[in-house]
Amino acid sequence: MSNCIFCKIAQGESHKEFLFEDDRVVVFRDLYPQAPVHILAIPRAHFHSIKEVEDETLVGRLFTAAKKAAEKLGIKDYRMVINTGPQAGQSVFHLHLHLLGGRYMAWPPG
Ligand code: AMP
Repeated sequence: MSNCIFCKIAQGESHKEFLFEDDRVVVFRDLYPQAPVHILAIPRAHFHSIKEVEDETLVGRLFTAAKKAAEKLGIKDYRMVINTGPQAGQSVFHLHLHLLGGRYMAWPPG
């Protein structure tokens, strides 16, 4: 989508460093990190949210990409989360998987 910031990032237009990339997924650092490590794994293709994705392989690829980036950054414990819809905290409407780590995280998250 032409006005989607994450599409631009996936296409390399914002010159962000990719911690992992392959033909379908890229991983980069969150602009406003909520933990010492806060990275996002996104599909190169545009999906508004996880609700629009029927390809289970792509969902698996997102998780695997985030995991590989975490290993590269040397963090052992982390949380992965996909906010889905405004009420759940989604603010960027291009599917993304958050991976946060490097500090203690309470549960439930509130
Ligand atoms: P969510 O609220 O789940 O939709 O998460 C969107 C995330 O994208 C937030 O954590 C933002 O800090 C992050 N974000 C927004 N714009 C950018 C950007 N240009 N580069 C990296 N992360 C971004």
